[in-house]
Amino acid sequence: MIRIDDFFPDAELANLQVGAGVADISPDWPATSWEALRAAGVLAWSVPVEFGGAGYSPVDLLKGAEFLAARCLTTAFILSQRDAAVRRLMAGPVCLKEKYLPLLALGTTFLTVGLSQLTTSRQHGGPALLASQISSGYRLDGDVPWVTAADQAQAIIVGATLADGMQILVVVPTDRPGITIHPPMKLEALLGSRTCSVRCDGVEIELELILSGPADHILGKSGGGGLETSALALGLAGAAIDHIKNQANQRPEIREIGDIFEVERVAARQGLHKLSVASVHQAEAVLAARVECTDLALRATQAALLVAKGAGFVDSHPVGRWARQALFFLVWSCPWSVQAEMLTVLSGRKKG
Ligand SMILES: Cc1cc2nc3c(=O)[nH]c(=O)nc-3n(C[C@H](O)[C@H](O)[C@H](O)COP(=O)(O)OP(=O)(O)OC[C@H]3O[C@@H](n4cnc5c(N)ncnc54)[C@H](O)[C@@H]3O)c2cc1C
Repeated sequence: MIRIDDFFPDAELANLQVGAGVADISPDWPATSWEALRAAGVLAWSVPVEFGGAGYSPVDLLKGAEFLAARCLTTAFILSQRDAAVRRLMAGPVCLKEKYLPLLALGTTFLTVGLSQLTTSRQHGGPALLASQISSGYRLDGDVPWVTAADQAQAIIVGATLADGMQILVVVPTDRPGITIHPPMKLEALLGSRTCSVRCDGVEIELELILSGPADHILGKSGGGGLETSALALGLAGAAIDHIKNQANQRPEIREIGDIFEVERVAARQGLHKLSVASVHQAEAVLAARVECTDLALRATQAALLVAKGAGFVDSHPVGRWARQALFFLVWSCPWSVQAEMLTVLSGRKKG
């Protein structure tokens, strides 16, 4: 069995659990938790060694995401968006890697992403963010509807669409003229993520800031729902499963339920790790894993609430928060194929 908890410096990251409740309900930046990540070296995990990072393998990054999400989903989620920026930089030109990656590893710079307008957001109208060619590069006009921690970032990696439908990915420094970062949204959970929409009015981007494109479907065809997202859902499910198992120490009647969930957790974890080292990208299996982990997060957190009873419905108890946070996985990075499958599960057409 793959154990996660032995793998990471829990003592250094203990603060995450302490701050998790406030990070969920308060729009204040979770500075103490973010500093705990920096102090524990977590901000270097995803950055390759040659750029000053720790160069963790894909499996170790999934273990890390699961571990952190079980302690503070808000902080783990912010990190996931920053790490998405790291991944995009890694596919870009060397000059941008050299400029940003060492500072990201140190934690002295923060970058985030605003990509969903290319995949899962605003797909039923025209492009939310238009790019037009100008002599020095591109001009951006329109909305980036979702950017986590936009007002904490020195730059945002943004996806934009050209008039002919081709797409580009660009690094947009947040101090550019024409950028308006709106106030953080009043979310149902994870308020500390300070998720904002960003308006671009004639924002000029020089060619040196282009990460990739123009290209068709620049983020691939599946559009979200990757293994990193699933690892966070699994971490949240794990917090709830551990709660049920701990309760079972005094209440033998729930032991079997804890054991059933534990088997599911281990199977889902093994599935994610296997997919992360697969030689060929298995898009359908990745999306199936996203459904499996979302469904597990929803069921395990609700089962934990049942076990915690009324006490779990009081806001000082973490179980109610976990159940609320599980809903996030129904809307974040959830492409249509995952939505369709989850609707089938939730409508009872298929047993979860
Ligand atoms: C807390 C949070 C943080 C996020 N952070 C980031 C981030 O940092 N970076 C990032 O890139 N993304 C981020 N996302 C975006 C996320 O991945 C999804 O893209 C987003 O949740 C999709 O929701 P939407 O409301 O934009 O979808 P939309 O599809 O734009 O839906 C908006 C509205 O339009 C309606 N609608 C949808 N389709 C149709 C249709 N065909 N006809 C008519 N009406 C329709 C819907 O019912 C809905 O009410 C974040 C999301 C959340 C919730």
